[in-house]
Amino acid sequence: MEAYFDNSATTCVTEDVSRAVVKMMTEDFGNPSSKHHKGVEAEHYLRQAREIIADTMKVDEKEIYFTSGATESNNWALIGSALANARSGKHVITTAVEHASVLMPMHFLQQQGFEVTYLPVDEYGRISTDDLKKALRKDTILAAVMYVNNEVGAIEPVEEAGKIIKDWNRNIIFHVDAVQAYGKLRIRPRRMNIDTLSVSSHKIHGPKGAGFLYVRDKAKVNPLILGGGQQKGMRSGTDNVPGAWGMAVAARDCYDHFAEDTAHLLELKKRMMDGLRSLDHTVLHSLPGQEGAPHIVSCSFPGIRSEVLLHALEAKGIYVSSGSACSSNRNLPVSTVLAEMHLPEDQLESTLRFSFSRYNTAEEEDYALEVLRELLPKLRRYTRH
Ligand code: PMP
Repeated sequence: MEAYFDNSATTCVTEDVSRAVVKMMTEDFGNPSSKHHKGVEAEHYLRQAREIIADTMKVDEKEIYFTSGATESNNWALIGSALANARSGKHVITTAVEHASVLMPMHFLQQQGFEVTYLPVDEYGRISTDDLKKALRKDTILAAVMYVNNEVGAIEPVEEAGKIIKDWNRNIIFHVDAVQAYGKLRIRPRRMNIDTLSVSSHKIHGPKGAGFLYVRDKAKVNPLILGGGQQKGMRSGTDNVPGAWGMAVAARDCYDHFAEDTAHLLELKKRMMDGLRSLDHTVLHSLPGQEGAPHIVSCSFPGIRSEVLLHALEAKGIYVSSGSACSSNRNLPVSTVLAEMHLPEDQLESTLRFSFSRYNTAEEEDYALEVLRELLPKLRRYTRH
């Protein structure tokens, strides 16, 4: 049996998406910038893709820009808005548990003379809105808070954060990395006071190398990728029509089946959390039910190194992720997210992440739990204390 529980890393594309992408690559392969019929046709798909995606969040299609994925979207939103607003101040706020594609641009901004405040998190990976209030300053120009944490599935208080930020100063750009939230939660950038929002296609059964950035109309964000002036000069480069169209097909699919898919994911999550809890010496780091994301369960198995367990599971056809970038090399940092949650050392180095998609089944989970029940005592016996 095979059980793929690493859907937060990436997902399979659906047959519909695969067909759509192939069609764009083999039949309707024109360059939307071309003046002839083939170009006009490609432009039509691009516009439709923008409309479909805009509709999933009830925003205007003019506010959707296609990118190569969320890493680019995050870099663009953060550096582009810092550059555009630097004259109003040089203070930026973010959380200590963002993805590297937010943290690294933040480090870059620090090197350029910006000051960054990193908000701490609780034991489940959530920031406190009081800390956010305290962090806001007269010279704050940008705040970035992820929607769902990719390692533990914590849902950050994005809506409250948006309100607090805008009550303080309407001109602060509020950026949200929604990679792990899009398709799993309903996102309303307008109501939530979000100015820029990042998504990656391959997390929602779309193709890799595609994503988008939502940029609220009139939000001050400079372009970063300069060239032929595509996408209103905001993101140059020949448009990736297969990627954008494939992502749109995947996005529509997600939101068309939203209620049944989330119900299924929540059932999977509950079954896995109950099962893991019933095993000896496990520690769960994800909040149950809708208190956390429906598709992520993080769990420590103290006494067993994550990689050891990961590969033992792999040998049985079960694919998971080590919830940490923890390595046998002691010089490498353990996961910053888990460390920021102040997990004790034995939990830090023994954490696995199980992440689900609509294609996972209860049978796969029962199989994984049965394998774990067998493996854990054996692996613990070999661990030196
Ligand atoms: N943000 C979060 C929360 C993510 O989980 C990921 C992907 N792991 C990214 C950003 C980056 O996405 P991509 O690698 O597709 O650019």
